[in-house]
Order: sequence, then C-alpha cells, then structure tokens
Amino acid sequence: MNRLFQRLRAWGLPTLIMALVGVCVLPVPEFWITQLNYIGIASLAVLGLVLLTGVGGLTSFGQAAFVGIGAYTTAYLSISMEWSPWLSLVVGLGITAISALVLGWITLRMSGHYLPLATIAWGLSLYYTMGNLDALGKYDGILNLPGLSMGGWQIGQQRVYLLFTWALLLLACLGVQRLLDSRGGRAIRALRTGSSMAEAMGVNTLRYKIGIFVMAALLACVSGWLYAHFQRAVNPAPFGLRIGIEYLFMAVMGGAGFVWGAIAGTAITTLLADQLQVLLPKLIGHSGNYEVIVFGVVLVLVLKYAPDGIWAFVDRRLPALRRDDTSFAWTSAAPLPSRAKPQAGEVVLQVQDIRKEFGGLVAVNNINFTVQAGQIVGLIGPNGAGKSTTFNLITGVLAPTSGQVSYRGESITGLAARGVAQRGISRTFQHVKLIADMTVLENVALGAHLRGDKGALSAMLRLDKAEEQRLFKEAATQLTRVGMGAQLHELAGNLPMGSQRLLEIARALCNDPALLLLDEPAAGLRFKEKQALIEVLRQLRSQGMSILLVEHDMDLVMDVCDRMVVMEFGTRLIEGTPSEIQASPAVRAAYLGTEH
Ligand code: ADP
Ligand code: MG
Repeated sequence: MNRLFQRLRAWGLPTLIMALVGVCVLPVPEFWITQLNYIGIASLAVLGLVLLTGVGGLTSFGQAAFVGIGAYTTAYLSISMEWSPWLSLVVGLGITAISALVLGWITLRMSGHYLPLATIAWGLSLYYTMGNLDALGKYDGILNLPGLSMGGWQIGQQRVYLLFTWALLLLACLGVQRLLDSRGGRAIRALRTGSSMAEAMGVNTLRYKIGIFVMAALLACVSGWLYAHFQRAVNPAPFGLRIGIEYLFMAVMGGAGFVWGAIAGTAITTLLADQLQVLLPKLIGHSGNYEVIVFGVVLVLVLKYAPDGIWAFVDRRLPALRRDDTSFAWTSAAPLPSRAKPQAGEVVLQVQDIRKEFGGLVAVNNINFTVQAGQIVGLIGPNGAGKSTTFNLITGVLAPTSGQVSYRGESITGLAARGVAQRGISRTFQHVKLIADMTVLENVALGAHLRGDKGALSAMLRLDKAEEQRLFKEAATQLTRVGMGAQLHELAGNLPMGSQRLLEIARALCNDPALLLLDEPAAGLRFKEKQALIEVLRQLRSQGMSILLVEHDMDLVMDVCDRMVVMEFGTRLIEGTPSEIQASPAVRAAYLGTEH
C-alpha cells in the first residue's frame, strides 16, 4: 500500500496529465467534459485563496468579484469594442491588479477583521454595479461572446478548451508551489504566525500581504476570463458574495494550505453539489436547495476530523517527498557575504535613560546599561520588572517614551523591528515562534531573509537556485553551530522545546548579527536542555558574539553572564558581575520578597 502511495506521489502530475488527455481522446460523455472544464476554471480562483487564506492566513470573501472583473472586462471589450480576447485579458489583469492593490493597501495595514469585512463590501458593491450598469447589460449580462482562438485556430468549447484550461491551471499550481518553496514563500508562510516574527527576520510583511492578495486576485481574473469565453455569456450571478463564500468553502474543503488541495476541494465540491441536486429531491420527495444544508454538515465534519482539509488528510498518509533536491546540494555554494564585526571590548549596545510608560504605569524607568563585544550581559528581575519591555524597546517592537538606544555608535531609537534587524541585531522570542509545518532547515533559512533578494518571479522560473543553495548552506552551518546539524529535514513542529529554542538561536544567527538578544531562552527547558543551551552560549561568546540575555532562571544567568543588570518595578536595582550581584542584599530582597 505504501509503495503504491509513493508511486502515486512521484507520478501524480504525469498521471493527471495523461488522464486529462485520455478524457479528451476517449468517448467520454460531453457532460463530464463540461464538468471538468468548470472544475478547472473554478480551481484557478480557489488556488488564489489557497495562497491567500490557507498559506498567508488572510481571509477574503471577494474572490468571486475578481473573477467577475476578469469575465466582464473581456465580455465588454470583445462585444462593445471588438477587441481581441487576449488583449482584453491583459486589460482585465491590469484593472484587477490596480483594484486589489488599492483595496489591499487600505485594509491590510490595519490588523484584525478589516480585510474580510472590506472584501464583503467589495463583493457586494461590485455585484450591484455589474447588475445596474446599462453598458454591462444589467442583470441580463452580455451575450454572444466570441470563442477563444489562438493564431486563427479555434479552441472551441469542449475538449480542447478543457486541455487549455487545465494547462493554465497546472502551470499556475506549479508556479505557486515553486513560490512557496522559495525565499519569498518562507516569508509568506511566516505571515500566519503573526507579523512580529516575520518583521524581526527583516520581512516587509505589508508588502508580502499585498503581494499575495494581488496574486490571488490575478488568478481569479484569469478564471473569470476563461469562464466568460467558455460560457460565451456573462451575468452577475456567478460573481456575487455567495459564490465568494463558496470559493472559500472549496479551499477549506480541499486543504487551504495545499496547492493541490485547490483542485481536490473544487472537484469534490462541484461533483458533490451535482450529485446531491439529483439525489436529494428523490430522497426527500420535493425539490429545493437541500444540498446547501448537506454542505454545511460536511464542512463541519471536515473541520472536525480533517481540519487542514482533505488534501492534508491524504498528504499525511503519503511518505514525505523532499522538494526539488538540488536546492539542498549546497556543498559548492559560495558563502554569503558577512558584515564587519566589532573588535572585542567595543561598545555594541548602549541604552541611555530609556523609559516606557503605558498610560500611568512606568514599565521601564530611565534604564542605563551597555553591552560590549564578546560579552554576555544578563537582564534579570522578578516577573513584571520590565525586562521584556526593555527588550522590545531595543528591538524596535515598541517605541520608547524617552531615552536613547545606540548600536555600534549609531542611534537606533524608534527604528522599526525590520530596521533593527537590518543593522545586525537578531532576536529570539520568549514564546517560541516557528512555522510548525516547515522543516528545521527552512525555518532557519527564514532568518537569512535579508541576505537574499530573489523575488516571486525568479522563484516561479526557478532562477533562484544558486541563491537558495547559499541561504540553505548558511542555515545548515548555523544549525550545526548550535548542535542541530542532524535534524535539518525534520518538521519544526515535532521538535522538543529545547531544540525549538536552539532553532530560534540558529535562525537569529542566520542574519549574521553582531548582537544577539535572547528573551528567556531557558524557559520550559529540562536540565539536559539547559546544559546544552549554556554550552551554545559559551561557544558563541568565544567566537566574539555579544549577547543580551533576558532570563528568569538565576542559576543559568549566574553561570554564563559576564555582567548583569537587575531590574525591579521598571528601575535598575544594581549592575555588576555575577558575584557582586550574588552578594547584594537588595537583590535577595527583590527575589525573596523580603523588605530591605
Ligand atoms: P517582565 O518581562 O520583566 O516580566 P514586562 O516588561 O513584561 O515584565 O512588564 C513590565 C510591566 O509593564 C508589567 O507591569 C506589565 O503589566 C506592564 N506592561 C507590559 N506590556 C504592557 C502593555 N503593552 N500595556 C500595558 N502594560 C504593559
Ligand atoms: Mg517577560
């Protein structure tokens, strides 16, 4: 059974292509040819949602509206202006790109539910616009569209159209798959975990969000263009909000995070709807839209028993297939350029009178300290002392109320997280933030985001291979450095906590930092894991790395730090060497809660 699955996986695409060609040359009933055409056309729009919603975590109800733009643009231009369908496709893509850019630009900068709400409004308003404009034939739409032809050769409406549609669809699937397996793809997959991690890796999250929103809309537009010339007529009904919801349903059913899930979800939903429309009235005895109810029940069941969709359910049962292996053949790849490192003893970080107020609460009260190259400085204090807030002020997550932060002599006060990362400060998170369904190596390669520059197009055309090899080589090097060289291809989500924390350190090191900020790296670790962490920290220091360590665990801090800053209620209690701190009665009082 396993062997069969393995074969299926390796031969999946060729089998699908042969099956499609087979359907076209064999005497398959016209009904099925039509069905397969509809499935191929809808799958393109659903593929967009797989990228946007499944992978990127952004929900859009407006996908059908973008399908409508593609359909109406080509219908209007080929009937009223007698333009070629190919030219009107270009115009449709242009209109789609501009409207998606504007919509995305307005809504994606705001967090929360603005995008879903805005896409609902967009879907509704476009539907009524299509239905009320005289030029677009109101609710009757536009009829008698020309069929597609290529160089004078008619594509027709049935078998050849099917091959044409599915060729476009498979190309799009391949393109999206390649994009997801690239530098940009790792950034897109990081979006779902919230922007803070991605931004700390130097990812411009707004740009990537708008990017996938536009890409999803463009796929929908092509789908609409195909639909219009297949039907040879358009009217507003297939582009309304209800269909927008149906596309989402198909994406979720198929497996919202999986490229091939787009086809699976569309096919299953379409075929099921058809069968139910015939079957249910017979069972119940009178007709009505009963399939809608069945759909609701099926969706609940899928969400309960296969929450990642049907494709994920199948995928988990197939033996893992490593992606395109040449990206991992990095032995001869050139190392990435690295930045000039500070001399030992140089002041790397200087925090001057930094202050943060949250309303009336002074979380950080005029704190001062410095970190020198090759030093581990511990920032400690009881819960609520202001350690994480100080950390966030340095890493650009929060802007200080007053005070200055300088890095290697340059002020970085008020710089955003991405800018801080760009200058060579890397961080880990108190609550580990990694992409569970990506391998250890891919997670760590995300840390080298700023050291590559290849974009979506290069990824789709596989022109990024040399850069990918260099990024993966760096990731593998850093993983070996923290002692995880044997776990490169494991899924990050399967790692124990100790390894997850080491993974975060390796990911931070991929940015080639001169200063490493670690937020409670020992939290949740067992004794053995703590020892391994201490070993890694010592070794990094011996290689000249400067580290600011925010930590709760006194033993660990006492063990590895050169100097320590103790905070209590936002203020600096004392600064000194571990032995000075240990001797201080004030520190004991703060930790034991006794009066001093
Ligand atoms: P630590 O990391 O040392 O445990 P924090 O820096 O997280 O402490 O918190 C310091 C103080 O600031 C706490 O009293 C906390 O409740 C408060 N605080 C932290 N973040 C915020 C915020 N975003 N809004 C309001 N108060 C906050
Ligand atoms: Mg904290």
